[in-house]
Amino acid sequence: MKITSVDPIYLKMPSITTAADGTQDTLLVRIRTDEGITGWGECDASPLVSLGVYCCPMSHGNIINIRESLIGETIDSADDVRRLRAKVLRNGLDIQQIHHAYSGADIALWDVVGKKLGRPAYELMGGAKQFPKLPYASVLFGDSPEETFKVARGLKERGFRAMKFGWGPLGSKDAAFDEALVQSAREGIGNEAELMVDAGVCWGNDVEKVLERAKTFAKYRLTWLEEPLHPDAIGRYGELARRKPAVPIAAGENCRTGGRAGAYWEKAVLTLMQCGAGRMGGSTLS
Ligand SMILES: [Mg+2]
Repeated sequence: MKITSVDPIYLKMPSITTAADGTQDTLLVRIRTDEGITGWGECDASPLVSLGVYCCPMSHGNIINIRESLIGETIDSADDVRRLRAKVLRNGLDIQQIHHAYSGADIALWDVVGKKLGRPAYELMGGAKQFPKLPYASVLFGDSPEETFKVARGLKERGFRAMKFGWGPLGSKDAAFDEALVQSAREGIGNEAELMVDAGVCWGNDVEKVLERAKTFAKYRLTWLEEPLHPDAIGRYGELARRKPAVPIAAGENCRTGGRAGAYWEKAVLTLMQCGAGRMGGSTLS
């Protein structure tokens, strides 16, 4: 089976705002073959920059776009998915966003092979089992505790059993304000639902502040506190872990390569790793 087209497709809301709401636009990737099979994938960051990686003119032998590397190639098996990944990353060695942008094509290729072989992609990747997932609502904190309470209550009324609140004004004032935001979220969703907080890197490199906030937030029973520190502060995450924060710490969504994820795994010592296939080069583990 041959790859006949690789189409990056940009989707956006009618207007884009400065809110830290990552669902305002995205880039889908569609791969089609000469046997009529179509696969879909996505790259979840800066979609128009990523789109350029699919079609930018060649600069030299290490800057060849993804479409050029894939169109006309053979795709029949999991080995082909891995072979093509190595080819694309080699051809695009000096394209700084190549790993991230390739996420969409890699996911789409697993989709293509799964459809061709009539098997789920997780099996082809070597996974033994699927696990049930609990979907959660992911929203921004309101500008005030009162507004946050209303958002939380609205989600509860819609039946969500897990919710994540993040970004917005968290970290912009003092400890009492941060606590009031988390408290209002917990009160809004009730005692039963799972509550997560995405700090949106608001405490930078300040481990002490994260330890203090974690202690305060523990009484609201957080399932996790996400990205309290800057993504580059990998060593500080390790320090945080050694000092045993009062709530589980999650991070890693900013990993754009497998190597970076490996560094997080070894040095940041997180309770939860949040590396995403749509960011770090797709679903292929290498
Ligand atoms: Mg996050």
